[in-house]
Amino acid sequence: MKAIVKTGPNQGAVQKETPTPTPGPREVLIEVKAAAICGTDVHYYFWNSAAENFSKKFGLTFPFTLGHEVCGTIIELGSEVTTLKVGQKISVETHIPCGECYHCKTGEAHNCQNMKIYGTSYNGCFSDYALVPESVAFPLPDSISFEEGSLFEPAGVAMRAIEESRIEAGDTVVIFGSGAIGLLAMMIAKAVGAGKIIAVDIDDYKLSLAKKYADVTINSLEEDHVSIILEHTKVRRGADVIIEMSGSPLVYKTMFDCLRLEGRVVTVGHPAGEVSINITQNVNTKGASIKGLFGRRLWSTWHSLLSLVENGRINLLDVVTHTFPFEEFEQAFEQTKKAGKILFVRDEHKA
Ligand SMILES: [Zn+2]
Ligand SMILES: [Zn+2]
Repeated sequence: MKAIVKTGPNQGAVQKETPTPTPGPREVLIEVKAAAICGTDVHYYFWNSAAENFSKKFGLTFPFTLGHEVCGTIIELGSEVTTLKVGQKISVETHIPCGECYHCKTGEAHNCQNMKIYGTSYNGCFSDYALVPESVAFPLPDSISFEEGSLFEPAGVAMRAIEESRIEAGDTVVIFGSGAIGLLAMMIAKAVGAGKIIAVDIDDYKLSLAKKYADVTINSLEEDHVSIILEHTKVRRGADVIIEMSGSPLVYKTMFDCLRLEGRVVTVGHPAGEVSINITQNVNTKGASIKGLFGRRLWSTWHSLLSLVENGRINLLDVVTHTFPFEEFEQAFEQTKKAGKILFVRDEHKA
């Protein structure tokens, strides 16, 4: 089979012929039908400082197959697999829990102490076939297309951010960062009853995509986003909810000025270094709550997301701006510089 492989800590990747793997006792083999490019894949592809940091934290070794956002059909079961069947359509949870640690045993497997990462410390899915541990396979109904199925993992991050933000009907929600996960968060915030949605970014192309979901879009390089947000929230004097998805440390300088007293902040983007926060002014006396997150809750976030998709409340494919076959992966990665979500689609399933 062909796989897009990262062979060392340098720019680029190669597509090469590799043996089709055989599932271990608790693994399944899938035929990959659709896969999406994530920011992590982009970091790995171009091999920047974020790739260095992430690879150190999660024990990456070369060579490995890129990709972790995927949907496919099970074609072979490992000898001890009991919960899955050949022919089933599955998507994959990227965070592979150990099943043994304190957190795994107390309902918090999403933050396992020994977490492995699909497409980092376990071979990924940018290949014709891929192995998946039984423990992270999420079966999907036939009504979900392969393309949509490949977006459940990133959309799950947005879903979790909305869950943790505890949005109440009519709340004003500010989302910093209009990348694919930011767009998905806007879509879901709307579906769960947010009032005004305000998108802040520094990239006009991304903001043009955000216009589809946000009531107000602000380029914070050109406009004073704090005063615009306060203008839109006169009674409560600040947004009820702020979701940080840009990963920019600069956002933290003004973010709390946009938040109302007793407001909630959810942080998702990973700034590369430290950020400083005035705790007294911005958190304590403000009564602010800050919740960080890394990935989806297992499996409640997945089920909530599936319900929104199945009932037509959101359409994940809305954020897809480009599709490519695996063979054109170099163009696909170049395209990430100006794109919403990019999918790899196997020819027979091209949308
Ligand atoms: Zn991802
Ligand atoms: Zn664990």
